[in-house]
This record gives sequence, structure tokens and C-alpha cells, in this order.
Amino acid sequence: MSGCAAARELVAAGRQVTVFEAADGLGGRARSWHRPEIEPDTGINLWFTSFYKVLFERIKEYGLEHDMVEMRNSMIIMVDGKPVNLAADSLGSLLRYGHTGLRDRVKFLTNALTMTRKRSHLDLFEPEHLARYDDGTNAAQWASTAMSEGAYQTLVRPTIESFWLWRCEEISQAHVMAMQANVVGSKFYVFGRGMETVAERMARGADVRLNASTTDVSVRDREVVITWTDADGGTNTEAFDEVVLATTAPVAAKLAASLPSEVVAPEMVRFAETQRYEPALSVSYLIDRGQMPSGEHIVPGGPGTRTVRSIITVPKTQITPQGRREKELVFVYMGRQATAELLDEPQERQYERALELAPVLWPDFPRNAEPFHIVERRVGLPWPEPGRFRRAAALAREQHGPVVLAGDFLGCPTAEAAMRTGIRAAKSLLAG
Ligand SMILES: Cc1cc2nc3c(=O)[nH]c(=O)nc-3n(C[C@H](O)[C@H](O)[C@H](O)COP(=O)(O)OP(=O)(O)OC[C@H]3O[C@@H](n4cnc5c(N)ncnc54)[C@H](O)[C@@H]3O)c2cc1C
Repeated sequence: MSGCAAARELVAAGRQVTVFEAADGLGGRARSWHRPEIEPDTGINLWFTSFYKVLFERIKEYGLEHDMVEMRNSMIIMVDGKPVNLAADSLGSLLRYGHTGLRDRVKFLTNALTMTRKRSHLDLFEPEHLARYDDGTNAAQWASTAMSEGAYQTLVRPTIESFWLWRCEEISQAHVMAMQANVVGSKFYVFGRGMETVAERMARGADVRLNASTTDVSVRDREVVITWTDADGGTNTEAFDEVVLATTAPVAAKLAASLPSEVVAPEMVRFAETQRYEPALSVSYLIDRGQMPSGEHIVPGGPGTRTVRSIITVPKTQITPQGRREKELVFVYMGRQATAELLDEPQERQYERALELAPVLWPDFPRNAEPFHIVERRVGLPWPEPGRFRRAAALAREQHGPVVLAGDFLGCPTAEAAMRTGIRAAKSLLAG
């Protein structure tokens, strides 16, 4: 998303642009899977919200409104095996929420309103905004102090940790403050044909090379030389005036490491080298309709580590050859330990283990759930550790041609933030 967003800006400014993509399609971590028997064909469930401003501009520009599928942001929070519903956009649901006392709920609400009032200074996708609140305090400390321990454990943790996979103690308060500032009153969507539709549209006008993996970047005679391997394993070199390196941090660090310090600042290379990523393993099954509540995020609340982070039931149905809609999809995201153990394991083992663990969160998880699809991302979601937004904002400000970096590790792990880092990178080249 960051690379294609950069390509769009540069093409629009009249530059000749080449996109090198190692995979066989665009979209990166936002790329979906497609199974024609599922309707709607929303694949991996990449959510976006009405506060994704740049993405909405592109949707309008490309006339993709009809591809948006609105989702209910409804949760079932489990504490000690007891389910309680919480609808993100319902005040009544918060006031009825039984996992914690009225005092905690009022503190949570008052805090959410305070944050909402600061919304114009707390854009989740702008590192410059987040930098101002990124004073080294982690989200757990902030939430327990600004609200209460009860509100933190039963309201903040479930709404943050189940979606983003990291723990609140590991991340900056700024991320959670910005989430709270923006989420009230927003709508949630997924893309009918996957987020890659937007990536593909943004890259139009560029020369897109798929299966083209960049292996080296060097500077010679005021040109940037890219070495890349093609689908047949052949090695090629090509020279460019300027380059945007729009990959995950480990790849960017490796490619930028040998560049002179006046081209890419050593602090930027070091920043990229030290980014930590949370791996993600999404295991999905087909279940009979009615076996579980539909259209819900089932998530754990309360203290302790998470064996299962979330179970998501989505109103996506399998259409049988006879046109019947009997099955629904359910996604299981396991905790950190099980995810680490299962990465690169055979899929059979991943399905089996997720089926064993799912009842820890939802005791009635159907034993006859039918394995459907697995997505594994070893380099998943970059951690917004305390202090990271501050460093990212300062480093991004200093970037200049002929080589600039882009990617969600310079913002927050969302398609929107990735796009904005790409736009910023392109602008810093155009400004030069
Ligand atoms: C499990 C999971 C769930 C998520 N859910 C959401 C969500 O609901 N909503 C949301 O907004 N965001 C979500 N995200 C985050 C979103 O997917 C990312 O923030 C976004 O895709 C990052 O884009 P990027 O351009 O920074 O990096 P990437 O998507 O990683 O793109 C980098 C690209 O570089 C390519 N590449 C790598 N190495 C090379 C090389 N050597 N040569 C050439 N090409 C190379 C890769 O193939 C890839 O296409 C999720 C991420 C994960 C992992």
C-alpha cells in the first residue's frame, strides 16, 4: 500500500515510475485471498473505517464505493467464561456492560469523550500527531491511570489487544489515545474484492514488475542502481534517478544498510533494524449457520495472558452448488505462544491446534468445524513501542532524495498509515 501510494503521487507529478514487487501480485500484507464459493468475497477481512481519509479519497476517485461491505463492530467479551456484549457505537451497551462496575464504565466513557474532543490533533495515521503524546508511557500505564484498572482490564485491553495482537504494556499510549479519539461514531468496512484492488489502481501508469525481488540498492554517479532477480532467477540491474524503498522494516534495513550515510541516515537504518513485528496466524473454518453468534468479535477480557486472542464470526456464507447458504466462516487467532509454535508448521497441525484451543475462549466452539483457509504472516504487525512514533516522525521529517523509505513501520500498522507514508516519501522526492 505504501509503495503503490508513492507510485500514484509520482506518476501524477509526471515522473516515469517502475514498481518492483517480489510477490506475484500487488497489495503486500493487505493482499487478500479469494474463494469464489464465499459471499461476499472479502477474503482476509482487512477492516477499514470511515476515518481512513486517504483511502476514502481513492475509493471515490476510482469509483469503488460498491465494493465496500459495512461490518458491525460488535463484540462479545469473555471474562471467566461469561460472555457480555459490547457494541462499539452504543452508549446503552456500554452502560449495561456487566464485566465491571458503573464507576469504571463512566471513567471509560468520560475518557473516550475527552479523547474525541482532541480528535483533530490525534490522527491515528499521522506520526507527527502521535509524537506529541508519545512520551515513553505505555498504553497499560496510561489507561490504568487515566481511567481505572477495571476499565483497563475489561474495556481497553479487549478492544485493543484482540485487534492489534500486541499487549498494551508493549505499546505507546499514543496509539490507544488516538484509537479512542477516532473510533466514536465511525463506521467499519471491508473491501468486497480485497484491498489490493486499491493498490492496483494506485499503481496504474507505472511499469509494474511482479516477481521482481530487489536484492541490492547502491548509488553510482548520481544514479541509484537496483539489482533484482526475476521469476526465472535471473539477476538484473537498472539505474534510476530516485528510489522509494517501500517494504517491511527488516527488508528496508537490509537494502539501505550499504548506502552512504548522506543518502540514508544511519539512524533510519538503525530504526528499521530494531523494529519488532507481531506474527499473525489466521485460521478459518466453515461452521453450520446458527452454531455460533454471527457477525461478532469474541474476545477475552480481564487480567492474564491470552491463549486465544479472538474468534471472529463474519456474515460470509458458503453458497453450495444448489445455491443454499448453510455454512458460515469463523476465524480463530491464537495467542502469542501458540502462534509462535505453529508458524511454518503443516496446515493440518495448525487447524488441529486452533480447534483444540478455541474452546478456551468459546466453550461451545463447534468440534465439527471444517478447515477452510489459513493465512500466515511471520512479519505481521509492527509494534508501536513507547517512543517509536516520536522517532519515526523525526526521521521521516529528515528524509530526502535520492532514496527514501516508506512503510507502516513509520506510522501505525494500517493500510491508511502505510499509504500516507508512501505519499510523504513521494513528496519528499518531489520537493527535492
Ligand atoms: C494479520 C494482519 C491483519 C491486518 N489487518 C488490518 C486491518 O484490518 N486494517 C488495516 O488497515 N490494516 C491491517 N493490517 C495492516 C496492513 O496490512 C499493513 O499496515 C499494510 O499492508 C502495510 O503496507 P506496507 O506497504 O507498509 O508494507 P507491505 O504490505 O508489507 O508491503 C511491502 C511489499 O514489498 C514487497 N517486497 C518485500 N521485499 C521485497 C523485495 N526485496 N523486492 C521487491 N518487493 C519486496 C512485499 O511483497 C510487499 O508487497 C493487517 C496486517 C496484518 C499482518
